[in-house]
Amino acid sequence: MVANRFLLFFIMSLMTCATQLLAVETVKIKNINTVGVAVGSEIQYFEDADHSLTFDQVLLKEKGWLVNNAAIFNQGYSSASWWLKFDVENLSADTEFVMEVSYAVLDYLDVYFVRKNGELKTTLLGDKLPFNARPIDHRLFILPIDLSATEIVSVYVRVRSSSSVQVPINFVEKEAFFITDSSQNVMHGIFMGGILSIAIYNLLIYLVLRDRTYLYYVAYALCMLVFLASLNGWSYQFIWPNSNHWNDTAILISMNGVVMFGLIFGRRFLRLKARLALIAHGWVLLCTVCFAIVLATPYSVGIRLMIPFTAAACFWAWGSGVFTWLKGQRSAGIYVLAWSGLLIGGIILGLSKVHLVPRNFFTDYAVQFGALLELLLLSLALAERINHERSLRLSAQNQSLTIQQKANEALEGRVVERTKELEIVNSKLQELSETDQLTGLKNRRFLDMYIKKEIARSVRYKHDLALLLIDIDHFKTVNDTHGHLVGDACLQEVAKRISSQTLRWPTDLSARYGGEEFCIVLPETNTSGAKIVANRIRECIQQQRFEYKEFNEHLTVSIGVYSVVPVTKELPNEYLERADKALYLAKENGRNRVEIYLPEA
Ligand code: GH3
Ligand code: MG
Ligand code: MG
Repeated sequence: MVANRFLLFFIMSLMTCATQLLAVETVKIKNINTVGVAVGSEIQYFEDADHSLTFDQVLLKEKGWLVNNAAIFNQGYSSASWWLKFDVENLSADTEFVMEVSYAVLDYLDVYFVRKNGELKTTLLGDKLPFNARPIDHRLFILPIDLSATEIVSVYVRVRSSSSVQVPINFVEKEAFFITDSSQNVMHGIFMGGILSIAIYNLLIYLVLRDRTYLYYVAYALCMLVFLASLNGWSYQFIWPNSNHWNDTAILISMNGVVMFGLIFGRRFLRLKARLALIAHGWVLLCTVCFAIVLATPYSVGIRLMIPFTAAACFWAWGSGVFTWLKGQRSAGIYVLAWSGLLIGGIILGLSKVHLVPRNFFTDYAVQFGALLELLLLSLALAERINHERSLRLSAQNQSLTIQQKANEALEGRVVERTKELEIVNSKLQELSETDQLTGLKNRRFLDMYIKKEIARSVRYKHDLALLLIDIDHFKTVNDTHGHLVGDACLQEVAKRISSQTLRWPTDLSARYGGEEFCIVLPETNTSGAKIVANRIRECIQQQRFEYKEFNEHLTVSIGVYSVVPVTKELPNEYLERADKALYLAKENGRNRVEIYLPEA
């Protein structure tokens, strides 16, 4: 035991010399602030490709150490074990510190503190060990260490990980660490709570609207939450502290979910059409393939696939948004802004990893800020979409209302037009049904109706009502000698002359009674008046010759007149019979005459 101690002390002295030869500086803790002292260029390291070396062998190793020229030890993806060493000297007044390794997904992290007196303290860390094996319950790797004033301690670290081999080491005064840590935890809580509430809110919107776009958005947000929580060690600390294999898989699966649901959401949100929609489908298919590969291969393969794939998918999502925006879709603008937030966050994180921007709380959590901003903006874009759809629906409603109104007006117009047409046709039909075709005078049907009406009126007002019955003399001879056509022409001419002589009052009516007989109704006309009208007709017929083609002769008519103040009992036929009796008298008395019906006759 004593020999061992001595050996260790001896080796330590040798190493100090070697360190000085290599001109690697000691990490000096002085004027320590809340940020702490980062360990970077003070590190020496070498690669143990087949994981064969033990700590004792490494202690003895003098040659082959390389100097780390970066602010953070970073070997990217490597399957080897890496040995790191550096010295720490306490030049401050404090004595209690923590060594913080702020990369939560390292698989194996063995830390050896070797004091000058030969005392060795070994701590085995890494997310391949159960969570409760850690000296301090923390999502990151935190080791407490006491250093008395001016004490120098050598630190050896062996690291091996299927994720990226990054070892950001920091020494912080213990109390300061926990103060800073609690405020960081609050920030994380706000951040994760923010994502969770966005997810729940949109889930509720989905339940109301049943638009699957919201569901994909919720899935996207939840995957993002699981991914960031796993990456930062929260899931391992709180959700699955004993399933150390699942922790790696969860990172890959949730990363795949972020890409897949993000792309589906993007396609639906931007309403991609034709070729763009096809490409979007292709991306989702690729996601499924990646998912299968991630499940079937170790983490080291899966992560090498997922990082470039995710980066490419993000640029596609962003690019398709820009394209749709340029095409004039307003909500695509917010979508582009949202993805820009995440992309810028990713770029800042990437730049900080290669030290082109300084590492601090904001650059370390740039992706988180970007993601939160993105989720908020996408939520806003979804709300804007509801608004847009509502205005579309409103304008469609208005349009259909206008169309309906126009259709109604057109229909009403048509109805009015058709009604007018029908009225005209009806009145024509009515006229036809009461007109004699040959002469254009009213026919017998109308005559009967008219007489009936006028009898009633005359009864009521106690007026005279006169009837004239006119018959052409010897008309049979005209027909027989010159033919029916000539006869018809004569009938037309007689009708014309009769109406020109009678229709002086609007209530006078001339009608064809039948054959070559005509009837005139003269309301409010007594016998003497009727006689005057009858004689005027008779003279009018007699005076002028009837001319039709070769026919050129005089015609005469005989007229029977009956006028009386009627009493209720009388019927049109009785009236007509009496006029006919007078007509018969006129024929008997030599034709071309007017005779009055006298009861005693
Ligand atoms: P009168 O009255 O003077 O006693 O002698 P008439 O020759 O006129 O005798 P009647 O009144 O009986 O003759 C009726 C004739 O009128 C018979 C027919 O030749 C003629 N007639 C009747 N209706 C029509 C018609 O629609 N067209 C033509 N062309 N002739 C008609
Ligand atoms: Mg006759
Ligand atoms: Mg006659």
